[in-house]
This record gives sequence, structure tokens and C-alpha cells, in this order.
Amino acid sequence: MTKISVVGHQNPDTDCTLSAIIMCEYLWHKWYSATPYILWWLNKETEYLLEKYDIDCPKQTEELDTDIQVCLVDHNESSQSVKNFSDLNVTWLVDHHKMKFETESPLYIRVEPICSTASVLYKMFRESSIEISQKTAILMLACIMSDSLMWKSPTTAEEDKKITRELQKIAWVQTLEDFAMPMFEAKSDLWDMPVNDLIQYDYKIFEFGAKRVGIGSLETTNPSYGLGRKQEILVWFESLKQSQNLDMIILCVVDIINEKNTTIVSDWSDAEHLSNIFDVPVNNNLANLWNRVSRKKQIANEFAVYFK
Ligand code: MN
Ligand code: MN
Repeated sequence: MTKISVVGHQNPDTDCTLSAIIMCEYLWHKWYSATPYILWWLNKETEYLLEKYDIDCPKQTEELDTDIQVCLVDHNESSQSVKNFSDLNVTWLVDHHKMKFETESPLYIRVEPICSTASVLYKMFRESSIEISQKTAILMLACIMSDSLMWKSPTTAEEDKKITRELQKIAWVQTLEDFAMPMFEAKSDLWDMPVNDLIQYDYKIFEFGAKRVGIGSLETTNPSYGLGRKQEILVWFESLKQSQNLDMIILCVVDIINEKNTTIVSDWSDAEHLSNIFDVPVNNNLANLWNRVSRKKQIANEFAVYFK
């Protein structure tokens, strides 16, 4: 059997972690010997899910073996991936993000503009007539709930809602609220988190033309927690700008319940960019970005247009 490593993005979230596990199951059906990996630590939402549903945690790593084939899930940009990305032999890619992927050899690629990588995987299972067990359905459902913020994010497609309903039946999940709210609460339990980790909890570095921008998204049921640590966050912003060679850095504190985004911005020049991009004032390093809850569809895309 051909060996393959399946890996999600840096600062792993529920979708990339559980999709790596689900993709391994898919690849086993295609006669691969597949192993899931995650880059760095687990987020608390994912930790809650692994414990609650008794799922083995993928192996934690920063680099992958270059002699073994690689499948990327839930990302395709080198700046968000494994340290030794340029040496990898990527033969599979399943994702739902914009493409910034260059390749020297052909590979299997499946990318769709739907709300989670797990939604894409659901379709792949169906197309290959692979039976979806109750446990796999729970994993898929968790990814959809996490990435779509229980359907509140504008990334949620009609197809995702249909898939959710199908998965609910297989997973024996009665209401989405009962299933998803404990996930969101687990994710919001951040009292013991060092401020550097708080910023990078769900964090991505984007390259927009020549500009490198770090965008953190702290999705929480308790926004005062992140906002209350603004001063510490601002200090860390400066050191991250240096160490990650960034032109700009922001942290969006997203109130999941009320669908509100309050964004922390570092200095006056970043503030000026932010206020130009979203046409909002910045006061005391804070900007009200209203109901922009999706980094992909409502934040990063605006940056891409602005820095074009
Ligand atoms: Mn993700
Ligand atoms: Mn995702």
C-alpha cells in the first residue's frame, strides 16, 4: 500500500483537524495507508470534540517526511502549511479556499466554494459509495458547524444545509444548537491562554501582492475576554510583526452569538489601512466591523482588493 500523510493548516481548527481524519478514512478505501497530522497544538473546540466522541488525536508535527506522498486538506498556501512545504510531494488536495498553489506534477484536486472541507469530503464519500458511519457523520457535522458558525457565516451554501440535514440523521443529532453550542463554549474558554496564543488561536498569514498580513479570528461566545486584553495584545502585535515579517496585523474578536466583529488593530498606519478598506472609524485601536464574521468572505477578500 502506498503511504500518504494527510495534513491541515497551521493553527489547526476543527475543520482541518477532523477533515484530516476523515480524509484518511477515504484514502483507506482507495488502498492508501494514510496517517493524519496536525501542525502545532489543538484548539479547545477540537479538543472538546476528540474527548467527547472518543477520537484519537492526529500526530502533532511541524514537518513531514518528504519521501512519503502528502495530501493537503483545508488549505493550499505554503505560508499556512508545513515548514518544509517546498520539498513535499503533494499528490492530493481537498479544500474550500482560494487557490494559491503551484505544482510541478499532476495531482488529485477537489476544491469547492462550500462552507467546510468536510462538506466536500461528504460529497466524495457519496460519489464513491463509501458508507458514512455515525462517528464519521459526527466528525463531518462538527466541521460544518464550526466553519459555518452554525450556518451564521455567509460561507454557508444551500448545499451545506442539505448535507447538514443528511448528517444529522446519520449522527442521531436532534438539534444543531445542542450539538454546536458546547463546541463554541469550549472554544471560548480562554482564561488560561497566553496572549501570544490568543492572537494566533485561529490565525493566518496572507500574502496580498507584496504585502504580508496576519489576520487572527477569535470566535467566541464571550468577546470581553479577548477585548479586555487589548493592551497586552497590542504589545504582542509589534513583536509578531517583526518575527513574522508582517506589514500589518489585526485580530478580529467575533461574537458568535450576536454576530458582531470588533477588530483590534496595531498602529496608526494599520488603522488607516483598515479604515480605508472597510470605511469605518478606528478609535483606541478598535474598529467595529459589524457583522463581518467570515475571514475568508468578508475580511481577507477585501484586503485582497485593497492591496492589489
Ligand atoms: Mn480551517
Ligand atoms: Mn475549513
